[in-house]
Amino acid sequence: MAKKTIANVNVKGKKVLIRVDFNVPQDANGAITDDARIRKALPTIQHVLKGGGRLILMSHLGRPTGEPDPQYTLAPAAKRLGELIGQNVVMAPASVGPDVVTIVNGLKDGQCCMLENLRFNKAETIKDKEAKDKPELRQQKDGFAKQLADMADVYVNDAFGTCHRDNASMLTVPQQMGSKPKVVGFLVQKELEYLGDALNTPKRPFVAILGGKKVSDKIGVIEALLGKCDAVLIGGAMQYTFMLAQGQKTGGSLVEPDKVDEAKRLIAAGGGKLKLPVDCTIAAELKEGAATKTTEGNIPDGMQGLDIGPKTIELYKKIIADAETVAWNGPMGVFEVKPFDVGTFAVADALVAATAKGAITVIGGGDSAAAIQQAGLSEKVSHVSTGGGASLEFMEGKPFKAVDVLDNA
Ligand code: AMP
Repeated sequence: MAKKTIANVNVKGKKVLIRVDFNVPQDANGAITDDARIRKALPTIQHVLKGGGRLILMSHLGRPTGEPDPQYTLAPAAKRLGELIGQNVVMAPASVGPDVVTIVNGLKDGQCCMLENLRFNKAETIKDKEAKDKPELRQQKDGFAKQLADMADVYVNDAFGTCHRDNASMLTVPQQMGSKPKVVGFLVQKELEYLGDALNTPKRPFVAILGGKKVSDKIGVIEALLGKCDAVLIGGAMQYTFMLAQGQKTGGSLVEPDKVDEAKRLIAAGGGKLKLPVDCTIAAELKEGAATKTTEGNIPDGMQGLDIGPKTIELYKKIIADAETVAWNGPMGVFEVKPFDVGTFAVADALVAATAKGAITVIGGGDSAAAIQQAGLSEKVSHVSTGGGASLEFMEGKPFKAVDVLDNA
C-alpha cells in the first residue's frame, strides 16, 4: 500500500517531527568522517523549512546505554546540518522534558531544532515483545513516545535504516499521534519505491546477487528471492558453506558447518536458479598484495577462498548483462583488501553497465553500498539503499510495522 508523503501535507506553521538517521561515522575526536546520511535527509528537511514548517529533528547515534553520554551527542550532526542548510540548528539538551518543550514552542516558521540522542533514554529501544508481559516497560515506552508525539503536529519517518525496528521513535510515536498526520519523507518514499515496487513487480529477467560473510544471515533472503527471481548469484564467504554442502573441500576458508543442511536445502529448492561460483581466488593468508591462485573445485589445505574467480566473474557479468532488474547485497570477496576486491568491483561495473542499458539496479546497503561508493559509482546505479539490515529484511518480505502504521496515500 502506497504511503502518504510529506509532499501531501501543508506544513505552514506546523511543528513537524522528523525521525531521521543521523547515525554518522565519527573519528576519535568526534569529527564526522562521512556526512552522507545527513545529506540524504536534506530533501525532506528543506521541503519542510521552505514550506514554513517548524522543524524538530530526532535521531539515534551509536549505542549509548540508555543514559546521557557526551561521546554520543548529536551536536556535531546538528552543526553539520546547519552548515549544509545555511541556518542555525538549535541543539536541544535532551530529547524530551520541559526545556525541550520550551525550545520547540519557541520555534518560528522555517526554523529548526535537533533533539539530543534518542538512545540517551532507555525507553527508545524497549522492544514491544519485551514489554508485552511487563506493564512498567510498556508504560515507560508509551510515556516517552507520548512526550515526543505531544510536541508535534505532524510526524515524518525518513529513517529507512531503522524501519525494521520497533523503537519508540519509529513505531510508538506514530501510534501516539492519533489523527494527526503521520507520513513518510522523501528518502523513505524512494526506498519503498525501489525495494518494494521495483523488486515486487520486477521487469524480467530479475537477478539477485548475494554475498557477504555468513550464509546464516541470508538464508531467509535467499529463500525469498529464489521465489521471486530468475537467478540468484552467490558470492562472498557464504559460497564455501555451499561448497561443503556439495561435498567439496574448503581448506581454511570461512565456513559455517552447522548451516550445511540449510545450504543443501537451498540448492535443492533453487532448481537451477541458484548459481554458485565455478572458481575461487585463493591465498595462503589474507593480506594486502598476497600471492593468489585460482581453483575450480576443492580448495587445498593451507589455502583460503577470498574472492570469486575469473570464470565466475565472466559468468556473472553475462547473467547481469541480460537482466532487466538487479538487486545486490553483500560483497563477492574481501573487498577491503587488495587483490581480493576484484570480484566485488567487477560486479559493481556490471551493474553500472546494466543500468546504462535501462535495467533497474538496486544495491541493498551495508558493505555493497560501501563498495559502490568507494568505486565512485553510486550515481550510476538506480538506487543505493541507506539501510543494510533494513533492506535485507525488506527484500525478504518481512512486514515493517513502522511503515505500516503511517497514513496510506
Ligand atoms: P556481510 O556483513 O555479511 O555483508 O559481510 C561483509 C563482509 O564479508 C566483508 O567485510 C567482507 O570482507 C567479508 N567477506 C566477503 N567474502 C569473504 C571471504 N571469501 N572470506 C572472508 N570474508 C569475506
